[in-house]
Amino acid sequence: MFSKILIANRGEIAVRITRACHEMGIMVAAVYSEADADALHVHLADEAVLIGEAPPQQSYLNGERIIDVALDTGAQAIHPGYGFLSESPDFAAAVREAGLVFIGPPEDAIRKMGVKTEARDIMEAAGVPIVPGFQSKNVSDADFQREALRIGYPVMVKAAGGGGGKGIRIVRDPRDLVEAVESARREAYHAFNDETVFLEKYIDRGRHIEVQVLADTHGNTVHLFERECSIQRRHQKIIEESPSPLLTPEIRQAMGQAAVNAARAVNYVNAGTVEFIADQDANFYFLEMNTRLQVEHPITEMVVGVDLVKLQIRVAAGEALPFTQEQLSQRGHAIECRVYAEDPANNFLPSIGPVLKADEPEGVNIRVDTGIKSGNAVTIHYDPMIAKLIVLGGTREEAIRKMDWALQRYVILGLTTNIRFLREVLNHPTFVAGEATTHFIAENPGNWQHEDEALPDEALIAAAMHEMLARPILATVGAVGPADGDVYSPWDRPDNFRLGTS
Ligand code: ADP
Ligand code: ADP
Ligand code: MG
Repeated sequence: MFSKILIANRGEIAVRITRACHEMGIMVAAVYSEADADALHVHLADEAVLIGEAPPQQSYLNGERIIDVALDTGAQAIHPGYGFLSESPDFAAAVREAGLVFIGPPEDAIRKMGVKTEARDIMEAAGVPIVPGFQSKNVSDADFQREALRIGYPVMVKAAGGGGGKGIRIVRDPRDLVEAVESARREAYHAFNDETVFLEKYIDRGRHIEVQVLADTHGNTVHLFERECSIQRRHQKIIEESPSPLLTPEIRQAMGQAAVNAARAVNYVNAGTVEFIADQDANFYFLEMNTRLQVEHPITEMVVGVDLVKLQIRVAAGEALPFTQEQLSQRGHAIECRVYAEDPANNFLPSIGPVLKADEPEGVNIRVDTGIKSGNAVTIHYDPMIAKLIVLGGTREEAIRKMDWALQRYVILGLTTNIRFLREVLNHPTFVAGEATTHFIAENPGNWQHEDEALPDEALIAAAMHEMLARPILATVGAVGPADGDVYSPWDRPDNFRLGTS
């Protein structure tokens, strides 16, 4: 087993991976940008190295620099987390060439699944159902128009190199096709440096259901059942649950098998996720494979009772999977809510600034994965996700109630968050009935456009006084000011509060 792992990421996922390493007795080397000097993942690591300025290109995407740091610190392996370099085949290859272990799939599998059009071809050959579509090199507008008619409207224009919901357009009217193709191309070029787009039949009122897979280097490939992620805004997930209320045991079994076949078709190793879109009758079609740990992996961990990050590390170290497919089962119902610094009443615009106070809910089977503590800031440089709140209940009803309870007790001051919005979705009759589709948020715009009720002044004054009085006296004379970035600290006051110092 490795004795030290470098984590090439930040935020909640870097914290999550650090925990797994420490529980396995593995030391952690962190990397951080100038914006993250006081970040939780830096504090928790055994050592941390500044790698550059805040923009990702100069830090978390600087693969060469990160590999140098891994070699310097004596790490034997690199965990890329999600986002950033996690799905870069070139980075994975460079890590291996440097004599280090990449905790993820072989670069060849990343490369094949990284281009959606190529992945579709491979899936078709492997007998995995794909969405009817059209893709070709050097396509003219006329080709697209003809093929869209053949597929049948509505169609979706998608970026071949896509990710994070970018480069996607839904087209319902043939007259809008050419413009949609052009704008998707522009967005795709900007985001992925590749303007290739293709067409897919748009599965109206679809359900996003994905399957977690895990494969070792000894030829074992298993699936760890499904996650439903239909609650999305801008084609990005915000609430996920497992099991999916749509699936019957037979369809679950078929989908699991299709995911295993998909992984085997590219000689997959380590953890990955095969995403499907299902229609109202639960016919399902391959969308893409994410060749990395997924944001929503904790709900699988809670329902299946595994630690996916530890398993990733074990597999990367050459160990065989500790279970067979038959030994895996789902127990209870888990839900994850992504808590974002964003304003649902204002088109989900990110909310930037310091988190003055973060107070997390606690309880049995309530899990908070966060990378932020009071005093940290949400910046323009990175994803504005503050935390993931995950609960496990015996039944779906219990899980919903538990999540609602936990959300009510999640205090985040200083920023606009989506917490109230998440509660409204959870309590919506369509969600409660387990019938929400990927259209849900767009179709229910009225519900969360209300103004935030202002707190009465008395409440604000009482809270401010409580905050001041409850602050522990940083007692001993000559004590150094706190290094925790506390904006209210009297020790940082530029007046004569602190005696004997200039
Ligand atoms: P998941 O399926 O894990 O929920 P998301 O689409 O939410 O995946 O992406 C997870 C993170 O990775 C987000 O921060 C997202 O912005 C980032 N990401 C995903 N794909 C890409 C990509 N191709 N390029 C850049 N960032 C990406
Ligand atoms: P990304 O790489 O950006 O995650 P995906 O192919 O996974 O791209 O698509 C993102 C989301 O868009 C899906 O989760 C789903 O909600 C929606 N979507 C994608 N393709 C289709 C389709 N053919 N029909 C209906 N919805 C789709
Ligand atoms: Mg996707």
